[in-house]
Amino acid sequence: MSLLVVGSVALDDIEAPAGSVKSVLGGAASYCAIAASYFVRAQVVGVTGDDFPQEHLEFLAARGIDLAGVTRAKGRTFRWGGRYHSSLNQRETLFTDLGVFEHFDPVLPPEYLDASFVFLANIHPKLQRGVLEQARAPRFSAMDTMNFWIEGERAELEKTLSRVAGLVINDEEARQLTGVSNLVRAADAIRALGPTTVIVKRGEHGALLFDEAGVFAAPAFPLREVQDPTGAGDSFAGGFMGALASGGSLSADALRRAVIYGSVLASFCVERFSLDRFRTLTRDEIDDRFEQFRRLTRF
Ligand code: AMP
Repeated sequence: MSLLVVGSVALDDIEAPAGSVKSVLGGAASYCAIAASYFVRAQVVGVTGDDFPQEHLEFLAARGIDLAGVTRAKGRTFRWGGRYHSSLNQRETLFTDLGVFEHFDPVLPPEYLDASFVFLANIHPKLQRGVLEQARAPRFSAMDTMNFWIEGERAELEKTLSRVAGLVINDEEARQLTGVSNLVRAADAIRALGPTTVIVKRGEHGALLFDEAGVFAAPAFPLREVQDPTGAGDSFAGGFMGALASGGSLSADALRRAVIYGSVLASFCVERFSLDRFRTLTRDEIDDRFEQFRRLTRF
């Protein structure tokens, strides 16, 4: 089973209380694919500039990620800078430098067309829809979005939402999208737009899954040290989609287990800067933490 991931491949500058790094590997598709790679073969569609270090591609490929859909264009790679303050809950975007990402128009290589699981990371909703139109018959497709598209491209966003089975979104965006501050009601309103499965990420407060079977709450794993929250949401999506794709079932139980795997992958992601924690992370550590999650909430 494979998972198709479409989104940014980036070079990030991060400032956090634990330190600062410059021009490190980032991007929603990178985080999502690497988290998914512990469960399935991830196929990435993205673009880099000609300044993108080969070693980053080699690192992703070494995790078994298929990069046939990542093109190299003339120009600069998408660059993003973020700063976290002591609480780590709030992030300030320092810059967004689109570079070659400005003209990104995802084209699926022929071997990606039969992908049965698809994750559309945060890109223009029209481009997300373009990917859905190319994929022949995905069994489960989910997407992310951001405030920029909610504010500026609502009609396009609603059209795309009507075509996906799942939305993975953070709490503030869920409120902004619906104009409803109560998250249970906001999820109802989102489900009325199309997606039957809605996951609301709440940072250090965990995640809520809303689907036909009701609501399921996953805590965030209590960590003693968080170095860099960047990519937590995308790692969550990768763990969630990867676990779903590897099991093949879309039952309520499978969705709930996948939410816990998403939470596990997000918890590892934030332990180090950039994608560094994934350089050593093993599937055994993932399964171990999955069991710790069970003990965390059993009573
Ligand atoms: P997250 O912390 O889950 O929101 O993901 C952060 C990652 O998303 C970073 O590695 C950035 O490179 C990437 N990113 C930030 N802004 C954007 C954007 N507007 N479009 C696509 N990717 C972005």
